[in-house]
Amino acid sequence: MGNMGFRAKELIHGADYNPDQWLDTPGIIDEDVRLMELAGLNSVTVGVFSWKNLEPEEGVYTFEWLDEIMDRMAQAGKKVILAAPSGARPAWMDRDHNEVLRVSAERVRNLHGERHNHCYTSPYYRKKTVEMNTLLAKRYGRHPAIYMWHVGNEYGGECHCELCQEAFREWLKKKYHGDIGELNRQWWTGFWSHGFSDFSEIESPSVRGEHSLHGLNLDWKRFVTDQTVDFFKNESAPFRELTPEIPVTTNLMGMYKGFNPWKMAPFMNLISWDTYPEWGREKENEADIALETAFSHDLFRSLKKQPYFVMENTPSVVNWREVNKLKKPGVHELSAVLALAHGADSIQYFQWRKSRGASEKLHGAVVDHYGKEDTRVFREVSRCGKLLEKLAPLAGSDVKAEAALLYDWENFWAIEHLQGWRQPRLYDETALQHYRALRKLGIPVDIVDEECDFRGYRIVAAPMLYLLRAGVAERLKQFVADGGTLVLTYGSGEVNENDLCFLGGFPGGGLMDAAGVWAEEMDTLYENEYNSACACGTDRCYQVDSYCELIHPQADTEVLLEYADDFYAGMAAATRHAYGKGRCYYLAARFEQAYLNELYRDILKEKGMTGVVMEVQKGIDVSVRLNGTEEYLFLLNFSGKEACVKLTDGRSYRDFFTGEPVEGIDSGVGMESSQDTITGTSGQGVVSLPENGYRILVMNSDK
Ligand SMILES: [Zn+2]
Repeated sequence: MGNMGFRAKELIHGADYNPDQWLDTPGIIDEDVRLMELAGLNSVTVGVFSWKNLEPEEGVYTFEWLDEIMDRMAQAGKKVILAAPSGARPAWMDRDHNEVLRVSAERVRNLHGERHNHCYTSPYYRKKTVEMNTLLAKRYGRHPAIYMWHVGNEYGGECHCELCQEAFREWLKKKYHGDIGELNRQWWTGFWSHGFSDFSEIESPSVRGEHSLHGLNLDWKRFVTDQTVDFFKNESAPFRELTPEIPVTTNLMGMYKGFNPWKMAPFMNLISWDTYPEWGREKENEADIALETAFSHDLFRSLKKQPYFVMENTPSVVNWREVNKLKKPGVHELSAVLALAHGADSIQYFQWRKSRGASEKLHGAVVDHYGKEDTRVFREVSRCGKLLEKLAPLAGSDVKAEAALLYDWENFWAIEHLQGWRQPRLYDETALQHYRALRKLGIPVDIVDEECDFRGYRIVAAPMLYLLRAGVAERLKQFVADGGTLVLTYGSGEVNENDLCFLGGFPGGGLMDAAGVWAEEMDTLYENEYNSACACGTDRCYQVDSYCELIHPQADTEVLLEYADDFYAGMAAATRHAYGKGRCYYLAARFEQAYLNELYRDILKEKGMTGVVMEVQKGIDVSVRLNGTEEYLFLLNFSGKEACVKLTDGRSYRDFFTGEPVEGIDSGVGMESSQDTITGTSGQGVVSLPENGYRILVMNSDK
């Protein structure tokens, strides 16, 4: 299988199962199996934190309990996702091999405890994880229950120990060809007399020491990424060698910024991630939470452009927020369908059974301390299990997107580290604004980074593309020249991959040719300070906040909006530039959502791109999955009230569950600019959605 992708043949409904916490409770496995049947689970994830139970003292192994679990799961027909237990370690290891304990940026070594606190460089820990995983692969690699390897858990964090410092210096030597002069030039160390004479003088960034060389900060993040990926590859090696036919995954974490998930993805057969949206954060915000969650789902699908797993979500509450809200009735099912709609092939829980003690005893679980099936949460999970059985034909199906949102981890790091502009930077928030505008039009969106191939897309939105890695400007220019539409904003193309500013004007690296503007200065605004920008010669104006760049359009660049206030009133605030067969839009200011909505609607019209809807109201998610000739249309309602969606693609559908026909009307008929006021009856392309409800429609392939 190597680095090839893995596609599930059925939808997985599973949970983190920790029977090793209950080994002295008679009969509990029988009861677990009975309840799993009732909950409709077809999979369990076992052993994520089981090291102490597998190797209670160094070199002493106790796999017998796991043998029994594997056998019982095989008898019960459950697929086991078996974990490599490196996410946490037994006390004996930390006592005898203190190098495995992580050292903080302040250069303080951790004590034993917690989890995820190991050094990624430690030769001992690397050797031990390979030993353990070799034993697991040999013992269970041919077991009838084995389905997938789950390596580590939620990789993250960084270690600043001497082993890591040395590895970092070696990494730098390789990157800068052993030439300290080259490093000094790339990091611009002449500033404050910070130049290095030798690689041995270099230390990882710390608030106690150097942290103002932006090139150093950026290289450190890249090193942490490479070291994390290398640790993962190292501990996956026994599975790759001994059981090449069994897929390998690890569970990634949402928009976690500690390392770049794009570098991990090629070494995973299947992407999986842990999703914990803050449903109920504020009543009126459910639509925003759904949008943020959908963005992450789209990211994880995009990492390999294939279906992914939801390795963890809670069936009810979490235990780590300041206020831990219950998922209201129906929200669990709706959030599960949101994952499926965006490309997930599984819904899995943390956790199956609530721990009796310690830190996660009050974290949501399928089985409560109460212990039986007559609970609200168990009923909701069982309902989800039945739903996944019905939706089996979805497994392995794709999402096809013609629009991409360029959101880049290295760009995020560079923006966060820069000194200047304003706080907060609003990179994530701005990416979401552009995403929201596209999703409002029912357009599927891939999330891409700078290294992705842009050629398959028709629209690339690249807000705040501050850092340009080598070759990116050329590839974006080619994308536009070939007919693509690129949307850039203020702050684009300011630094190269080593965080050195481009000379000769922004956007640099040659991107200015496509953008058709020169950005001379950046004004930033206070929290409640605004400017506005108006369409030339009209009274159509839009509020702008946070960022106002002062730009000079080229002679052949069309000015769409001009600033209305401040000393730069009358200067261009939004432009459009034809370049080759395509167009590049440049937004010099951070606009209110309404302008982005109109802009992307115009772009779609200009490109003749249509979704299945003209536009939807806030809180409605429209998604499509394709499975061969079958096309599944998902309409979800997070608006907090009853809602309607008008299908304007002129095609005919049937309800997935009832078979009831639903006819879309021709797009020429439904030209309303807003769906907020839509009323109507079925038969006119109008599909009604109850509060917290959804519909799944199947396109009739005869049309
Ligand atoms: Zn270390």
